[in-house]
Amino acid sequence: MGKYDLLIVGAGLYGAVFAERAAAAGKKVLVIDKRAHIGGNIYTELNEGIQVHMYGAHIFHTSDSRVWEYVNRFAGFNNYRHCLLAVYKDELYNLPFNMNTFSKMWGIRTPAEAREKIAAQVAQAGISEAANLEEQAVSLVGRDIYEKLIEGYTRKQWGRECRELPAFIIKRLPVRFVYDNNYFNDIYQGIPEGGYTAMVQKMLSSAEVELDTDFYADREHFMSVADRIVFTGMIDEFYDHCFGRLEYRGLKFETEILDTENFQGNAVVNYTEYEIPYTRIIEHKHFELKCQGGERVPKTVITREYPAAWKPGDEPYYPVNDDKNNALYERYRELAAKEGRVIFGGRLGGYRYLDMDKVVAMALDDSRESL
Ligand code: FAD
Ligand code: UDP
Repeated sequence: MGKYDLLIVGAGLYGAVFAERAAAAGKKVLVIDKRAHIGGNIYTELNEGIQVHMYGAHIFHTSDSRVWEYVNRFAGFNNYRHCLLAVYKDELYNLPFNMNTFSKMWGIRTPAEAREKIAAQVAQAGISEAANLEEQAVSLVGRDIYEKLIEGYTRKQWGRECRELPAFIIKRLPVRFVYDNNYFNDIYQGIPEGGYTAMVQKMLSSAEVELDTDFYADREHFMSVADRIVFTGMIDEFYDHCFGRLEYRGLKFETEILDTENFQGNAVVNYTEYEIPYTRIIEHKHFELKCQGGERVPKTVITREYPAAWKPGDEPYYPVNDDKNNALYERYRELAAKEGRVIFGGRLGGYRYLDMDKVVAMALDDSRESL
């Protein structure tokens, strides 16, 4: 019917993996993106010799060997291990919550002491089944950690009180009773050498790519250009918000080049006080292990990440997966299930917060099923 076998709307990770699989199966593929670059939110750009994560820090981590083998076909990954710091007023803590955090917080040394401290605070809170994020956090790590490291950060990140947020947001933060600052529990972890953009570029090498091209600028044309369509934009927008608008959370990034070699000594430092308007500062060069490797890069690039309310027209960074929005999404999903030609995928097509490895797995599965 159309000139192409497949049109993919969105040159982000989901679109790129799908395009690669389709091209490998001999399909003629067109990928469009309304942005001026490929990669979606994992886009990186070289600045002062440093790969800058233009839409926030992205660390690849997975326990799925199929996904790890797949991405390693398109990039060599370095051995970066994510260890996070958190600043609360003039105090500095290690994250995720582990013995280093507990030791600094309470001046204790052993796991038994830490468990005892937490158990006493949990008992005092008297929570049997956590019904919201505050209760979930307090029942995991006690009130001291909740107040210093979670409450302010979460409130500014989501623009809501912790009592009004679902518990699952905090469930994915690891809590461990060993002195181990590695943020992720996954088997494989790293950052692609040469940046994520180069990795995505390789995935897209056999597809035609048109940038600065919005699907809605000529919907009729794009619906007829290919036999099948993969759509990775907002699912509610595709259906003209016929059941109402889904909600998203925004972000703002402020990037600065500093005339100093090493600004904060770590890739990411979180600022957990509510009064500081940003949630974290990224110092990009530390993702590349350049400082440790001895290569001197005299300047540094940092990015402050600010949470922001979302309104139509803004970039939708996070779906708000509370009950109300999930129920609304379900109605769109039912419509989507009836589509013959359109496959919805990725974090906007599926209205779900997904880490990169889950997006790759989803694109591999969906493409295998439909090609
Ligand atoms: P996207 O990257 O959003 O791609 C969708 C593309 O579709 C975009 O390029 C968009 O411009 C395009 N598009 C939308 N509508 C249209 C239209 N109408 N016409 C044309 N094009 C359109 N994951 C991890 O595993 N580790 C991390 O450390 C990590 N950190 C993160 C930090 C932040 C701040 C955020 C927001 C996310 C993070 N993630 C992380 C998640 C990761 O960004 C996603 O898993 C991944 O980018 C999702 O890819 P995608 O293709 O689904 O979506
Ligand atoms: N969080 C927190 N304090 C921190 C870091 C995270 O309270 O210093 C909470 C917060 O609610 C956040 C959630 O944990 O939304 C998940 O954090 P993560 O860093 O995994 O999410 P990201 O924003 O990187 O997707």
